[in-house]
Amino acid sequence: MLFRGKMPGVEFDVEALRQKYARERERRLRSDGIEQYVEISGAFAGFANDPWSDPDFTRAPLFDEVDVAIIGAGFGGLLTGARLRELGVQSVRLIDKAADVGGTWYWNRYPGIACDVESYVYMPLLEELGYVPTEKYAKGPEILAHCKSIAEHYDLYRDICLQTEVHEIRWDAEALRWIIATNHGDAIRARFVAMANGYLQKPKLPGIEGIMTFKGHTFHTSRWDYDYTGPDLERLADKRVGIIGTGATAIQCVPHLATAAKELLVFQRTPSTVDVRGNRPTDPAWSESLRNGWQSHRVENFQLLTAGGEAEEDLVDDAWTSIVKKLFVMRQTRVEGMSDEERLRAVELADFAKMEEIRARVDSIVSDPATAEALKPWYGYFCKRPCFHDDYLQSFNRDNVTLVDTKGKGVERITSGGVVADGTEYRIDCLIFATGFEVGTDHSRRTGFEIVGRDELTLTDKWRDGVQTLHGLAVHGFPNCFILSIAQSGFTVNFPYLLDVQARHTAEVIAWALSHDATEVEATVEAETNWVDTVIARSAASADRAKSCTPGYYNREGQANAKTRQGSFFFGAPTEYAEILEASRAQGTPEGFRIRTGIPR
Ligand code: NDP
Repeated sequence: MLFRGKMPGVEFDVEALRQKYARERERRLRSDGIEQYVEISGAFAGFANDPWSDPDFTRAPLFDEVDVAIIGAGFGGLLTGARLRELGVQSVRLIDKAADVGGTWYWNRYPGIACDVESYVYMPLLEELGYVPTEKYAKGPEILAHCKSIAEHYDLYRDICLQTEVHEIRWDAEALRWIIATNHGDAIRARFVAMANGYLQKPKLPGIEGIMTFKGHTFHTSRWDYDYTGPDLERLADKRVGIIGTGATAIQCVPHLATAAKELLVFQRTPSTVDVRGNRPTDPAWSESLRNGWQSHRVENFQLLTAGGEAEEDLVDDAWTSIVKKLFVMRQTRVEGMSDEERLRAVELADFAKMEEIRARVDSIVSDPATAEALKPWYGYFCKRPCFHDDYLQSFNRDNVTLVDTKGKGVERITSGGVVADGTEYRIDCLIFATGFEVGTDHSRRTGFEIVGRDELTLTDKWRDGVQTLHGLAVHGFPNCFILSIAQSGFTVNFPYLLDVQARHTAEVIAWALSHDATEVEATVEAETNWVDTVIARSAASADRAKSCTPGYYNREGQANAKTRQGSFFFGAPTEYAEILEASRAQGTPEGFRIRTGIPR
């Protein structure tokens, strides 16, 4: 039955769907790939200004020394700091360009912001802080408050440098120290550095003709301008608002704009998959019932069920676990004895069935048939980040909301008074860019600074032909430096899980080095090469899928290449990455590193 294109309760023409997906992909492919976006710098720099900081902040430069400097005070930096503190490391300094901790949750404050993975598994250190989120999917302000609580609980505000932009980090081979230069004239010395700069943090703009000629008000969603919109968006009541982009961010803020603005125009290039959310307040009786170890148990259960494993119970039991269970179970137990090709077809069928369900949901909610048709996504479920919302599709039933579907072409032009799509100019007062963040550009471009390692080697040069790391964390030529990156690290849909695995490893290795008078801890060439080869070998299936997926930041806008494949996740069993890291330090001396001891010259 599986291979006749039928799933229980669903029938579809497999060949017709394949062709439709290919056609839709084709019309979105562009020769300029990731070059279609303009960097937020120079004339565009204003789009990245911090709306939440004190613009007049100054402080005296620092020339002191710390054991560990952590660049970035989002979840990655906070977790690294927390795990270091737990291991007794006291001399820790967080450095961030923002005016407070929080990272993603500091910058992104658009209306409707909430986590899209269940808060009980998404928000880290809940047991350590004795906190249970108020909702299944907590909202942004609650998550930001939790970030601040983590910093307070682990005393990470002590010695923190905020509103501090790193300009360069340079290894001093004589002193065996990293020297951190910043916009305050600092030259901070650190024995170890951890880069927790964030995965999706540098906002990007589409390179649409005329973008700078717009005379109305404009901003990016990650720098929401509440001075303009009003705290409850009340100042939009007499405004025609346009929003470009329909990704995970737009899905969350469109319903709020829809109720607040006089008129809302949503400019769409590719529709997202929008599944059921089902948020609800936390049941106090359930909170009361939680016992020691509940969070790590739940996090691991979610990781198992969403990264291809099996578990007897499904603790989270939401749209994430249900779809991934369906797709991966197809690939494993129920189809034992099948050839690889048969398995792939079974997964393809399960994917088609899920997407049919997503498209049927659009029909069941959106009343205008043409609008409903335009809101249907035609690609494999994981070609883009799946979205979940119970009010987004409903917004298009409102009289003041118009979907401007650009049929995969994107916005054509921006004028002084509006946006042109398909030859029609739409006049607006305010234009909001929900156009996401840089992916696939150089590390130094995304972070804004260069890391200069041994023998003047820059990270940009080291990674010119592709990312090279040991475990997605350590880099040969860059001793005592840990880079918490997605590239070459374990697959997950729950990024704080990955950050915690990396933070624990970083903290363990650093604490071990400090207590063993290790002056240099550096990934060996052999260990690094082995890891890179493993990542490449394990990424065959995802590299194939990237070729057939609709363009987006997952597949370098449809131009995935060998370099992209090298920078992919390490694909393995759901908790294999964490286990590899744990095993590598189980014998005491961390494996894969060359370790030097002795007093610095
Ligand atoms: P995305 O990169 O996902 O979306 C950008 C949007 O801009 C896409 O819809 C894209 O269309 C559109 N776009 C780009 N250029 C043009 C153009 N020229 N004309 C018209 N449209 C254009 O960014 P988001 O900020 O939405 O999300 C980024 C990621 O952040 C998510 O994938 C998710 O991982 C994370 N996130 C998580 C949230 C959570 O946990 N709560 C909430 C929000 C974001 P196209 O698809 O055709 O490229």
